[in-house]
Amino acid sequence: MMNYDSFYIGGAWVPPEGKGEFVIASPSSLEPVGRVPAGSPADVARAVSAARGAFAAWSATTGPERGAILARAAELLEGRREDIAQLITSEVGMPIRMSRAIQAGLPLEAWKRYAERAKTHAFETRLANSRILQVPVGVVACITPWNYPLHQVTAKVAAALAAGCTVVLKPSEVAPLSAFLLAEALDQAGLPAGVFNLVVGDGESVGEALVTNPEVDMISFTGSTAVGKRIARLAAENLTRVSLELGGKSAAVVLEDGDLERAVKNTINACFLNGGQTCSALTRLLVPENRYEEARAIAAKAASRFVPGDPLDDQTRLGPLVSERQKNRVLDYIGKGIDCGAELVAGGLEPVDGPGHFVRATVFGRVNPASAIAQEEIFGPVLSIICYRDEDEALAIANGTKYGLAGAVWSQDEARAQGFAARMETGQIDINGAPFNLDAPFGGFRHSGYGRENGPYGLSEFLEERALQLPQDA
Ligand code: NAD
Repeated sequence: MMNYDSFYIGGAWVPPEGKGEFVIASPSSLEPVGRVPAGSPADVARAVSAARGAFAAWSATTGPERGAILARAAELLEGRREDIAQLITSEVGMPIRMSRAIQAGLPLEAWKRYAERAKTHAFETRLANSRILQVPVGVVACITPWNYPLHQVTAKVAAALAAGCTVVLKPSEVAPLSAFLLAEALDQAGLPAGVFNLVVGDGESVGEALVTNPEVDMISFTGSTAVGKRIARLAAENLTRVSLELGGKSAAVVLEDGDLERAVKNTINACFLNGGQTCSALTRLLVPENRYEEARAIAAKAASRFVPGDPLDDQTRLGPLVSERQKNRVLDYIGKGIDCGAELVAGGLEPVDGPGHFVRATVFGRVNPASAIAQEEIFGPVLSIICYRDEDEALAIANGTKYGLAGAVWSQDEARAQGFAARMETGQIDINGAPFNLDAPFGGFRHSGYGRENGPYGLSEFLEERALQLPQDA
């Protein structure tokens, strides 16, 4: 059990003003795995005031000074790599083998890279008679979801600290535990008091207290589109800048000459990763009408390998969903898919034995692109295979949802695949199964939000330009 009874505010562990607590239960065994306090608007006020108080001194440090502290934090986190993987598997339910690589591996690598980036980034450039300074935007509120808890926290906090901002983090109350490990590492690394502050709470009271606090200069939010819209509306009151990483309904498009076997297997893996609870999951597979039967057979076989099981077992490929609420939501969508006449290729509504929030890996075929399962973010292991007649129709279907976060294109002719990708209205597109790049800009178009995270793009989100015009003879 990981039990915490205080928040990290102003460089110290302080008892919360709020009285409640969140009990975090394993989504597999339903046994408690940790407890954290439930904060209140008063805790938010204290945390924001600490971040405001620390801003002047932290923003005046040099990039190399900040980088040295971040590098120490990265080393301390590295020492807890296995703890992080086990912890996140216990609270989120991602199979441990994948957790080691993604839930622990990715954020650890990102901390190292932001430490290095802080040391080497040119925060000042010259443009004719102007000195262009990139200055930190100020106090940043980071609000994050539960599905990749440390990865999403890192994309914001590491970049904001590298930029010279001070931070108040409100992680998801569903999976907050790794944020406490991070606070311990930053404290031990010698981060000055008030530069990083941690408060946990629900969205309505604690989240909104943070969003509406006039001392917050920027809100960096990852989560659902509905909450993102609400945050943007609330933030408008103080003209607080906002970056939004929201939902998705991403399409993998197999062009006429694409390698169907590889494309289908790769899409199934990407769709069912973390039980489908991935914002950039490829949840729609577009295939030429005349290759549908072949695609269906490959998909059925590939899906059968995703057998629900204990996420702490090294062999498991499909863990539980994070909560009962999430499980019911996904089952509801599977019911809608059956009701609207889509072909059930794999999985379905049959319950899984055991106490956990399990749902079967489900594939629907010949899905109508206008139906709910092809339009709405399900956030569970559900793939829709959609047939198209020609490339124009494929493009219209791929672009035919309100989202635009990720995508994939498959063709033996790489130039053709890139040409198609250029017409997709989405932020990241993988060509022929190419791997994730931790430094490439990550973010959406339309209802998937605005702003970019990771690498140099993530750093610049937290910087603003200031121009000093110098006399011509300077
Ligand atoms: P959510 O929107 O319910 O919650 C996200 C965070 O916002 C939590 O910390 C929550 O407490 C807080 N929150 C909720 N209501 C709030 C309010 N009114 N004001 C301020 N804060 C509030 O999302 P979730 O269920 O935790 O995560 C799943 C969603 O996140 C999915 O839609 C998924 O696509 C999205 N997501 C997007 C990305 C991305 O990078 N684009 C990455 C991961 C997840």
